[in-house]
Amino acid sequence: MSTLEIKNLHVTVDTPEGVKEILKGVDLSISSGETHAIMGPNGSGKSTLAYSIAGHPKYTVTEGTITLDGADVLAMTVDERAKAGLFLAMQYPVEVPGVSVSNFLRTAKTAITGEAPKLRTWVKDVKVSMEALRMDPTFAERNVNEGFSGGEKKRHEILQMELLSPKMAILDETDSGLDVDALRIVSEGVNRVKDNTGLGIMLITHYTRILNYIKPDFVHVFVNGRVAEEGGPELADQLEAEGYDRFLVEA
Ligand code: ADP
Ligand code: MG
Ligand code: MG
Repeated sequence: MSTLEIKNLHVTVDTPEGVKEILKGVDLSISSGETHAIMGPNGSGKSTLAYSIAGHPKYTVTEGTITLDGADVLAMTVDERAKAGLFLAMQYPVEVPGVSVSNFLRTAKTAITGEAPKLRTWVKDVKVSMEALRMDPTFAERNVNEGFSGGEKKRHEILQMELLSPKMAILDETDSGLDVDALRIVSEGVNRVKDNTGLGIMLITHYTRILNYIKPDFVHVFVNGRVAEEGGPELADQLEAEGYDRFLVEA
């Protein structure tokens, strides 16, 4: 049983116009087996929250804490965060020229666990996960993100998530750019990993569509750098019907 706890998180970013506060006191707690949807209008700071948890150097925490099972995440390097069990699927994954998916995944797994996975079981694990995500076997030999379609990038993210067995996964706009079939396959992958490993999920999304496939236990409405309202799945239904106008007016 793990808990990711965010308390009074304030984060700034350097912009050409000067230092700007993006997160203005975020409180959020996610435990193993829970799925939390973070929903909010564009520019409300959802990705900033994800990057701050992951330790992206552009984002400066000026106040507050992030802990994983009591350990100070903010004191950890990016690598240490991954080793501690945090997984961030990037909204716009970068290309890694000359590195195949297969090598990339094995290197990442080795870095996280501290030892190279046994080749035979590893090859089998990769194969099983790729088949479940309906990925062509040749995909493993392609270079990371080079010429990947939107759907391939997302499947690759979920493949990583399954193979790296994190405690907490932060999925930022996993639904963006997916057609209905790809969305269903990717969502099934997330649900399978959740059921098999009991990981906690922070599912960041602007739209309610993905929540028809990945059922949230909690919904947090994110507006102007903080959580404006919290509830159960019914809050997502309300947003689907009414949009974010009410929250924007209040903000
Ligand atoms: P969301 O993911 O909810 O759409 P973001 O976290 O991407 O929101 O952005 C929140 C605000 O912070 C926006 O006004 C955005 O322009 C600004 N911002 C985020 N990252 C940066 C950055 N690296 N440089 C400058 N401004 C940024
Ligand atoms: Mg505060
Ligand atoms: Mg975003």
